[in-house]
Amino acid sequence: MPANIEQPEFTRLVTGERRVGPTLASVSRSWQNDKECFLMVSPHDDDVALGAGLFIQLACRDKIPVHILIVTDGSMGYCDPNERDNIAEIRQAETLECYQKLGVPRDNITFLGFPSGVINDFLGRFPAPSYSKLNIKGYTGLQNAFTWHLRRIRPTQCFLPTNNDFHPAHRLVYDEFLISLFHASGRIWPELGQPLPKISWLCEMAVYCDFASAPTLRIQTPPDMLEAKLAAIAAFRSQKQIVALVNNIRSGGPLEFFRAIEYKFYNPKRYYDLFEPKM
Ligand SMILES: [Zn+2]
Repeated sequence: MPANIEQPEFTRLVTGERRVGPTLASVSRSWQNDKECFLMVSPHDDDVALGAGLFIQLACRDKIPVHILIVTDGSMGYCDPNERDNIAEIRQAETLECYQKLGVPRDNITFLGFPSGVINDFLGRFPAPSYSKLNIKGYTGLQNAFTWHLRRIRPTQCFLPTNNDFHPAHRLVYDEFLISLFHASGRIWPELGQPLPKISWLCEMAVYCDFASAPTLRIQTPPDMLEAKLAAIAAFRSQKQIVALVNNIRSGGPLEFFRAIEYKFYNPKRYYDLFEPKM
């Protein structure tokens, strides 16, 4: 582990270049100053606190708006039979406490409310009954909700847990969110808002499993920010099963890693030479 430091430090690796600086802006080439806005997509309420609790504190310190989208309602996540009927409400209160401790304002924390355990029933987009609390502009589904909130929040950068994960909800949310980024920047479904000017930058974080390939950004903070992250995660008192994850974070030290996702669009020219006779 690197030695303790007094001030937070960002280290970014970009095709052989190593950039080090005190802020994310200082290691970014496409930084948009006061236009910057971050969206954290959390399949379950605690995911982005576990994966990015230091990063969120630093973004709030630097006055960058941070929005949190909690995808599932947590209704299957009870560890105590006495909490079985009202676990969703208990977890909502814990979620608000956790992210506000990290510096995120209440109004920037949104609960999408998809039912835990069956989000595969909500892939894509389809008409919703008017009484459904999951109805947005007459439709429901993950792609409907993600497109609506992307066009509402208009983030410059998005962050979510890697799809290299054994939790099916993490993989499904990842797939649905990536295609929604394309929907949100196109002209499809005009009732969901004005298209984004471009596809937002996207980074993944690790929660349960390693990254599929090496991360590209490291954040290191003084130890007190790790204590603040752990204190925020401790708000999830009902989630007794996260002890192992919390122990892993504590022993890992005041560090977080992220991996930038590169959109590689099909370009036939890439394959021209492959089929030519070797000279
Ligand atoms: Zn999760």
